[in-house]
Amino acid sequence: MEMPSPNPAILARKARLAERLLAVLPDDAVIQDEAETRAYECDALTAYRCPPLLAVLPRSTQEVSDILRICHEEGVPVVPRGAGTSLAGGALPTADCVILGVARMNGVLETDYGNRIIRVQTGRTNLSVSGAVEEADFFYAPDPSSQLACAIGGNIAMNSGGAHCLKYGVTTNNLLGVTLVMMDGTVVEIGGAHLDAGGLDLLGVICGSEGQLGVVTEATLRILRKPEGARPVLIGYDSNEVAGACVSDIIKAGVLPVAIEFMDRPCIEACEAFAKAGYPMCEALLIVEVEGSPEEIDHQLGLIIEIARSHNPVELREAGDAEEAGRIWLGRKSAFGAMGQINDYMCLDGTIPVSSLPYVLRRIGEMSQEFGLDVANVFHAGDGNMHPLILFDANKPGDLEICEAFGAEILKLCVEAGGCLTGEHGVGIEKRDLMLHQYSATDLEAQLKVKDVFDPRWLLNPAKVFPLAVTEGRRTAAMAAE
Ligand SMILES: Cc1cc2nc3c(=O)[nH]c(=O)nc-3n(C[C@H](O)[C@H](O)[C@H](O)COP(=O)(O)OP(=O)(O)OC[C@H]3O[C@@H](n4cnc5c(N)ncnc54)[C@H](O)[C@@H]3O)c2cc1C
Repeated sequence: MEMPSPNPAILARKARLAERLLAVLPDDAVIQDEAETRAYECDALTAYRCPPLLAVLPRSTQEVSDILRICHEEGVPVVPRGAGTSLAGGALPTADCVILGVARMNGVLETDYGNRIIRVQTGRTNLSVSGAVEEADFFYAPDPSSQLACAIGGNIAMNSGGAHCLKYGVTTNNLLGVTLVMMDGTVVEIGGAHLDAGGLDLLGVICGSEGQLGVVTEATLRILRKPEGARPVLIGYDSNEVAGACVSDIIKAGVLPVAIEFMDRPCIEACEAFAKAGYPMCEALLIVEVEGSPEEIDHQLGLIIEIARSHNPVELREAGDAEEAGRIWLGRKSAFGAMGQINDYMCLDGTIPVSSLPYVLRRIGEMSQEFGLDVANVFHAGDGNMHPLILFDANKPGDLEICEAFGAEILKLCVEAGGCLTGEHGVGIEKRDLMLHQYSATDLEAQLKVKDVFDPRWLLNPAKVFPLAVTEGRRTAAMAAE
């Protein structure tokens, strides 16, 4: 993975920069020691690592503003970081950057049940937002599988989703406002405790902008009343394509389950060995969950089971009680850990129209033969968000390169099928060079102009999202302006 060379003039200014930062931050908020900065050398895409010049851990919007103003004056790049669980290398540092970690900014600033909102600092973990409103019977809907660790700031930057996003939408559908600190230290409020933006919808630009436009320090989120109940059904098929067709038919019928999850045989086998959830051995498993009152659940599950039966399932198991429901989810929730125990894998993330599922799954199977690498599929099928896991041997010379080439072809397939390169994990460095498969040069230029407005000196989160060749001129001009 190519990254721009560090700027020697910035490296030489490390001591002065640290001194200026220490003038506005407490001693424990500036990490200069090389061994300690290694804690920030990568995110969950661990194949690429680089310790930053410095790491800073602010506690307030004012501290973030001071840090950015100083880095702006010094011409030093800044990489915002939440919990570092990005799978796309979105929080990967460069050697001449300051990592700005928001993890210490984890407070709840306001809860307002009457207006169904919560305002939090963006270092707060996703799961602990629901935790803060649980007693009042509320919850925060977006539920990435990493929710125990990942932070709201990272969720906003990546527009994260999760199993329940089929019904509740992804982060952008549950975000009402942000406090954003621009690269020069200016603090702006975008959106607020209301449903619509006055003026241009800049919130939609910030959500999913991968730390390119500013650092989000506070967020106003929509919270929802917990449903009366929920019940999953497990459906097994003897082919991926038939399972894909079943998903497509459920969506076409207009039923709105809260989640439709898909696992294929390699994944089922790994999960069963790991979690012993009692899954049947078949080619493809669906977990479909509905929620509401007992009558609503019965009605929706009735329709789903009828559709499932029309595709001749080899297994159909409705959860009778909470214990059975827990067992149905157990394997799926352990999927990534289970796969990691048996093989090295690369987790892809692309989105397709749901009706293309049978075709895309068949093509992935054919390409797996062509490239000679197995693929395990586990994903949020209801909203067309695919996570093919390409299995490879990290110790076998050449396997990683074949895996990367295969991964690129799968992502291009998603685009050809009418979908896009990014599902929930963003572009980061992982899909940066594939952007030209999705966008024309003119489209990309329009996106770059938005970046120019928010961050004219191109200092925020360098070398992510846009192909390096496309941004080279802007980066060189920014460096020359120092
Ligand atoms: C096991 C596992 C399961 C996962 N499952 C899911 C899933 O189901 N759904 C899903 O969507 N993702 C999933 N992910 C990916 C990841 O958890 C999400 O992308 C998450 O939103 C990243 O949050 P973070 O706080 O860790 O961000 P980081 O990794 O720290 O950063 C991610 C990006 O956000 C930027 N950023 C972070 N904080 C801020 C801020 N305050 N202001 C501006 N920019 C900021 C960074 O610069 C970077 O570009 C999973 C990851 C793992 C490891």
